[in-house]
Amino acid sequence: MQDTQRHTRKIVIIGSGPAGYTAAIYAARARLEPLLYEGFYSGPAGGQLMTTTDVENYPGFPEGITGPEIMELFKKQAERFGTVCLTEDVQNVDFSKRPFTIQGSSTASSAHAVIICTGAAAKRLDIPGTRDGEFWQKGVSACAVCDGAIPLFRNKDLYVIGGGDAACEEALFLTHYASKVYLVHRRDELRASKIMAERTLKHPKIEVLWDSVVDSVSGDSVVKAVTILHLKSAAKQTRPAGGLFFAVGHVPNTAFLQGQLPLTETGYIQVKPGTTTTSLEGVFAAGDVQDHVYRQAITAAGTGCMAALEAERYLSSLGD
Ligand code: NDP
Repeated sequence: MQDTQRHTRKIVIIGSGPAGYTAAIYAARARLEPLLYEGFYSGPAGGQLMTTTDVENYPGFPEGITGPEIMELFKKQAERFGTVCLTEDVQNVDFSKRPFTIQGSSTASSAHAVIICTGAAAKRLDIPGTRDGEFWQKGVSACAVCDGAIPLFRNKDLYVIGGGDAACEEALFLTHYASKVYLVHRRDELRASKIMAERTLKHPKIEVLWDSVVDSVSGDSVVKAVTILHLKSAAKQTRPAGGLFFAVGHVPNTAFLQGQLPLTETGYIQVKPGTTTTSLEGVFAAGDVQDHVYRQAITAAGTGCMAALEAERYLSSLGD
């Protein structure tokens, strides 16, 4: 392993979504010279917004902005004040002794304070036919915005599972390519925000299959059909399909912590309410990795700012 960061840093930030870059902007402006691990295989630098189309609700962009564009701006702003960004994943950390050590895929570092902003990743459901080695990535995907434009999905009936904002956004996005999009939702009411739900429900190419789940997926070398189970009548129907997309929420990216910090039952980092402090002094968490409620770019950025301010205060208390 290369160790190009031999001196102990004041602060290391893990993760590069709105939380990570905002923490970096504040930490860099406070002259804490942050090192930020952006991630690589674990997902694109920039986090979930890199796989989003238009961001219409981030204040300051009245005409909207694309996810990748806004993340490029976040990163530029962090680098402008001296943040060093490493395009690699953190494989493990050692918080049992101080300074803390952070092991990236090629760069190890140590720091007096760490801010974790590793976000969350799209969840998959364990449906027969969708697993690895079956039709996963052969017509089954957890990101319509990443995969929806490929020829495999053109002019086919496509299915999206979920009833939240992500499901609506994915369904709307897929209307550009599909002959028809079916939103399969397990209840009779969407969870999505009013504006997204309205757009979805009135779109001529989208039909919602209420009270329904996908029972199985079948095909040859790629997906050819889905079997839908109507939960109220228990009726099953197999229908032609060119693709299936999961939009059923997210799991926090905390596996690399390997028990070094207490997590909630669902794997989120526990922070003291109203703060970003974890149970370990000097370790802070911001963004979706500690928030299963709001999960917005603006709230992630807000908690990133809080984490940097709290880390700065902590470092001052050490006399650094
Ligand atoms: P949500 O948790 O909001 O929605 C998940 C959906 O998946 C729900 O409808 C849920 O059903 C369904 N679901 C969960 N588990 C299962 C299961 N086992 N079987 C079938 N269906 C299941 O997640 P999202 O990813 O949609 O959104 C996360 C956050 O990101 C939200 O705060 C959202 O507002 C935000 N967001 C905003 C966007 C925007 O404004 N453009 C775009 C995307 C996300 P049920 O409703 O029955 O629980």
